[in-house]
Amino acid sequence: MENQHPSPNTDYDCLIFDIDDTLYPSSFGLNKLIGQNIIAYIIQKLGIQKEKASDLSLLLYKHYGTTLAGLRAIGYDIDYEDFHGFVHGQLAYSDLLKPDPILRSLLLSLPIRKIAFTNADAAHASNVLSRLGLEDCFETVICFETLNPNQNVSGVVNNASDLAKVLPTGSQDIFDIMGENVVSSEYPKTPVVCKPSIEAFELVFNMADINPQRTLFFDDSVCNIQSGKRVGLHTVLVGKSQKVKGADYALESIHNIREALPELWEALEKTEKVKYTEQVAVETSVRA
Ligand SMILES: [Mg+2]
Repeated sequence: MENQHPSPNTDYDCLIFDIDDTLYPSSFGLNKLIGQNIIAYIIQKLGIQKEKASDLSLLLYKHYGTTLAGLRAIGYDIDYEDFHGFVHGQLAYSDLLKPDPILRSLLLSLPIRKIAFTNADAAHASNVLSRLGLEDCFETVICFETLNPNQNVSGVVNNASDLAKVLPTGSQDIFDIMGENVVSSEYPKTPVVCKPSIEAFELVFNMADINPQRTLFFDDSVCNIQSGKRVGLHTVLVGKSQKVKGADYALESIHNIREALPELWEALEKTEKVKYTEQVAVETSVRA
């Protein structure tokens, strides 16, 4: 754990937590299985060649935050429910995750409002949180459906053969519009709103009435952390012992939160001290 206190701030009034690989360690393997399912979806449902599916998924994930957002950007008409059902529907949550009473107790003892913010869909978020025993630890869960309330937009392509129609003239495949030689600012825009886009963070701030200057944001993704920093959040990179540019703190495990950020509990300790002092004062005056 790298514990930095560049400018200790005991005035946080909100904590935002990513879910996957943040509230449980990546070593549990859930996210890896999701990644494999996404590649299977690309091959089976979109007809993309097996040899290219993995590279494409990674490229889209890196640039857009989720492969789904990237697939929409490059022209695929994805039925969101079908996609999420395919990649999450068969996951054996009970085998992969177990209740975490330590984290539950830490979260419930925090005297600050807590919000979960994930790019995954509501069903996945709910399955993960309930399996971890954290379903009642958050004021609200902001997920894919929250930020993308309008379902599929028509007028986009449906399969690999249709994709040829939207590729630049002379292009052979998707990598011609998403490849190494293309400047990332020229990548097509996605209609999907998700981390790490600035738009996603600002929507969350508005929806949940959050002041980023007084909020700590926990996420395992360096991209999300750096984007969070750009929109004014205080940031905690989870799952890494070394902080990166844009991260104010680094926690190897979310379980280290209390030792790395004891100030989060200070508000409660102050309140308890005041209560105790008041109680003593009343008892003293009664006795007097
Ligand atoms: Mg994550």
